Amino acid sequence: MSHPEAKEYCPLCGQPVEIPGYTINTITGRLRFCCAGCLSIYQLVNKEKLKTNPTTKLNNNEEIKK
Ligand SMILES: [Zn+2]
Repeated sequence: MSHPEAKEYCPLCGQPVEIPGYTINTITGRLRFCCAGCLSIYQLVNKEKLKTNPTTKLNNNEEIKK
């Protein structure tokens, strides 16, 4: 389906991304990293750019009051 030859480069270190899976969604789009280290460093440095993961909270209520 997708072109296997289309290479992406790690936004942190600039190396070509050989292994899929180290992907995160940010407010500017999806980023692919070359390794888990680069991914976690980017997440730490750019916390405010990351999209909050909707799968962690499936509750429709804005707030649960007792
Ligand atoms: Zn990297």
